[in-house]
Order: sequence, then C-alpha cells, then structure tokens
Amino acid sequence: MEIKRVFNFSAGPSTMPVEVLEAAAKEMTDFEGSGMGVMEMSHRSKVYLGIYSATEAKFREVFNIPDNYKVIFMQGGATLQFSAIPLNLMTKNGKADYVLTGSFSTNAQKEAVKYGQINVAFSGKDEGFTRIPAQDELKLDPEADYVHYCDNNTIFGTKFNYIPETGNVPLICDMSSCILSEEVDISKFGMIYAGAQKNMGPAGMAVIIIREDLLQDPQEKTPVLLNYKVLAEKESMYNTPNTWGIYVLGHMMDWVKKEGGIAAMNKKAKERAGLLYDAIDNSNGYYVNPNDKDSRSIMNVVFRLPNEELEAKFAKESVEAGMTNLKGHRSVGGIRASMYNALPLEAVEHLVDFMKKFQENNPQ
Ligand code: PMP
Repeated sequence: MEIKRVFNFSAGPSTMPVEVLEAAAKEMTDFEGSGMGVMEMSHRSKVYLGIYSATEAKFREVFNIPDNYKVIFMQGGATLQFSAIPLNLMTKNGKADYVLTGSFSTNAQKEAVKYGQINVAFSGKDEGFTRIPAQDELKLDPEADYVHYCDNNTIFGTKFNYIPETGNVPLICDMSSCILSEEVDISKFGMIYAGAQKNMGPAGMAVIIIREDLLQDPQEKTPVLLNYKVLAEKESMYNTPNTWGIYVLGHMMDWVKKEGGIAAMNKKAKERAGLLYDAIDNSNGYYVNPNDKDSRSIMNVVFRLPNEELEAKFAKESVEAGMTNLKGHRSVGGIRASMYNALPLEAVEHLVDFMKKFQENNPQ
C-alpha cells in the first residue's frame, strides 16, 4: 500500500525520512530478536547499551567529532541548555559574551543573566534581526568565560557564513536548526549543542558536543541533571535518558551515511534553498526575503507577500495544495519554509510551482 505523505515544511519537529520511520516501525515490537521494542527496554540492559554506543559512534563518525570531545544526550531540548551553559561554564570570571541574532540567542542571553555578568557582543534587534554581524562588529571581552551564538536563526531565516574568531575564549554554538547540514570544523568550538527535532529525529532530546577540558565543576547550586561533568562521566545515564530519541538518532545517522554523508546533505540543502530563493528573487517583488543576501539560511527560508491578507490566503491555499506548516512563526508573521535534511527536493519544486500560480491568480 502506498503511503500518502504531505510536503511538511515544519520548523521542528519536522519531516523525517520515510526509511527511518519504517525502520523504527518494523522494530517497534521486536528489536533484533530481543522480543521487545526499544521503548520497553531497560536503559541499562545489554541490548540497549549496544544501541546507545552504536548511535554515539555513528553520530561521531557522521559529524566528524574529534576524540577530545564528549557527546552527551540530554532531555529538556535546546532551551534547557540556555541554563546549563552558564551554570557549567561561567565559572572562572563569571562573565560571558552573547551574540544576539534572533529569538533563541536572545532567550539564551535572558537565561544567562541570572547566573553572571553578560556582555551583549552584538544585537541585531533594532534591525529586525535581518542580518548576521561581521567579525569586526562583535565586541568581545577577552575575559569572558565563553562566547555564545546561534549559527542558524530558525525564526528569522538567517545564518552565519563564518565561524566567529574568539581567540582563547571558548566558543559555544546553538546549532539546533542547522546541525548535520554542513561540514563543521568542531575543533574551533568549545561546545556545540542542538535540539534533536530538526535534523536528528524526534523531539525530547538535545545533543551536546563538549571539549573535555571544559568539563569542570559547575556553579555550586547547579542541579545534578544539568551537570555536564556528571553526565559525561555517566555516559548520559545519571538517570533514564531519552532511550527512544537516542535510538532513532542511530537510524537517522544510518540514513545520512547512506545518502552520502554531510557533504551530500549540504549539496541538497543548497539545491532546495537555491530553488526557493530564485523563485523569490525572480517574482518582481511579489515575494520578498527581508534578509541580507549573505546572511541567508539554507534551512529556514522566510518571505513576505504584498500584504497580510495575501499571506493568510497563501498559507490556507498551500494546505489545500498538499503542503503544511508554511505559516511564518507567530512572532513575525509572513511565510517560512523550513527545509531540513529529510525534505525532498520535490517538495520545494511543488512549493515554487504553487508560488508562481498564486502570484498569477492574485496580482497586485
Ligand atoms: N535554538 C534554536 C536555533 C531553535 O530553533 C530552537 C527551537 N526551534 C531552540 C533553540 C529551542 O529548542 P527546544 O524547543 O528544543 O528547546
């Protein structure tokens, strides 16, 4: 029986490869002859520990993680990291730099001020977060315990096209909405983290990649479940981890490998984004992307129509045309197409066709 799939442009949780969903479905009631599904397994059982270490190994291989970095799987999404980061890492001088390029980096900064002295190294707020700063616009404090930034801004559709240079100050990056979409030199970072629900599988987990020398004692009142040192020592199993999320991540990594690895993911992402940006740029101003061209995201593409009525109509009719989740984030309006690794090119072709017809049918 052929399954019917909608073209799902959700910003996360988001579309996943059918193969991964089917592989998980097939093993749902009996994982490799164990007589039980993964959701039913003790996280301390031999069979599950096998799943855990295989997932970690595949993730390390796919993302090319150096040996002196630990991988931790944590619950609480990326947002809990906004608290965990200052608690664990703002421990030397009690200061940190935050680069504000959108909603999530701002949320991270709002959380961090509870735990130390925060310097806003750059804020794009007054410009409506429409661009990424150049390196020389970052007002960095050499005494900061770390610099935090968000590589890809999911809501505003912007992306750093360089890795900020921070000298000896550890660089911490929220890669929630772009992880595994391009090759990254991890050695440039003190820590990278990401919520899983975009390019890594189901929601309910964040993945942390942290350089070993940063695993120090955290601030005194840090909850044990936020203590990176403890979690790294206990292989993410101080308590019951998100066993299902870790397992599905393993299948996701098999899929990425089979498709040609991150280089192939990046090529496809550029193809999808190129197609959509071309459609926007060639619409004679009917569709407008508000961002600087060299700050454009290839995962989340935002655009406006001539007015809000047309945007509402566009969102509504796109659903009738077999697409979903194209409505922009409630805080900014407009239209947003999130196009993570698992989104087929066909979905974007369908969207671009729809955009042309919509413009013809609703002239300005
Ligand atoms: N950072 C970025 C870049 C995000 O896109 C999101 C969620 N969309 C978050 C952080 C927050 O993630 P979570 O919902 O997993 O806490």
